[in-house]
Amino acid sequence: MKLIFLGPPGAGKGTQASRIEAAYEIPQLSTGDMLRTAVAAGTDIGKQAKDIMARGDLVPDEVVVSIISERIQAADCANGFILDGFPRNLSQARELDSVLVEKSIDLDAVIELAVDPEILIARILKRAQETAGGPRDDDTEEALEHRLRVYEEQTAPVADFYAEKGILRTLDGMQEIDDVTRQIRSALDSI
Ligand code: AMP
Repeated sequence: MKLIFLGPPGAGKGTQASRIEAAYEIPQLSTGDMLRTAVAAGTDIGKQAKDIMARGDLVPDEVVVSIISERIQAADCANGFILDGFPRNLSQARELDSVLVEKSIDLDAVIELAVDPEILIARILKRAQETAGGPRDDDTEEALEHRLRVYEEQTAPVADFYAEKGILRTLDGMQEIDDVTRQIRSALDSI
């Protein structure tokens, strides 16, 4: 199963993707996690991404496209994968398309978790307080508001891109965590 999880910051993509990873035995590929690892390790990519991420902006397309195109060709992705946090704009979606065509890989579904923007800030600030090791650099109220704006302006159009391909499934991300998981599993089981 080759999947993309789409949704604004705080929609629950990471939580749900890790549940689907376990249930379907396919790796969750989070560009945010990969970039945070690079920042913590002080690699060249990490140095390039650090300040951009702290502000809540998007790191350059070529950085994430090259990370993901390499990663989805690894042996553990042979049966599928979940892209969590990628693509984040139309140009990344188009680049991903070319990589998938070149590798003869078909996406099965794009799962969009729809959440009322008003509850997102409260959700993320709560997550920040509960995160072991302290909040993320971009979990300040200012960076958060910026991340939500970036989502609306750059990432939301990605849903239309996949709707036109007929593979978008938009689900209600405001239900209880277990109920959202049930919705996702039933959407995937019907594919
Ligand atoms: P996330 O963990 O998905 O919320 O991502 C945290 C931050 O990492 C984002 O605010 C961006 O700065 C960066 N990032 C993650 N994924 C991407 C992507 N696909 N394109 C550009 N920047 C990204």
